[in-house]
Amino acid sequence: MENISSIEKVLKEKGYKLTKQRSDILSVIYKENTHLSAEEIYARLKKNNIGLATVYRTLNLLTDLNILKEVKINEMSYYEPKMFSKKSLHIHFKCDKCNTIFDIDSDSIAVKYLKINRLIEKENNVIVNDVDILLNGICEKCRNK
Ligand SMILES: [Zn+2]
Ligand SMILES: [Zn+2]
Repeated sequence: MENISSIEKVLKEKGYKLTKQRSDILSVIYKENTHLSAEEIYARLKKNNIGLATVYRTLNLLTDLNILKEVKINEMSYYEPKMFSKKSLHIHFKCDKCNTIFDIDSDSIAVKYLKINRLIEKENNVIVNDVDILLNGICEKCRNK
């Protein structure tokens, strides 16, 4: 995959190798491009003989290197692509009933939010590097039940 070879370069610059296991884990995350827990990634890679401890270790490393994004919801960590991900802003919505997590992807909201960001920077004399917004509520499917 194109992303994986770009990530290999990033790893090399930081003194890490793209091992088979790292490559397998990255492939799952970049291919599914959604929020996966360590257990879910482990379940998909069991047949490749990757242990759960290796999955945890690799996810921590890739998060530290800013390649993956870790989303913590109710003490659970989920992982998704960060590097080469085309999302400028990440707003997560979690349904309180079915526990589904999804991204609110909207250009018009992103533009409005970035304006708020600039205001926050100006009023507080800070620089915003990353934004994590988690909304809780009831998803469309559960509302219609
Ligand atoms: Zn729901
Ligand atoms: Zn997300």
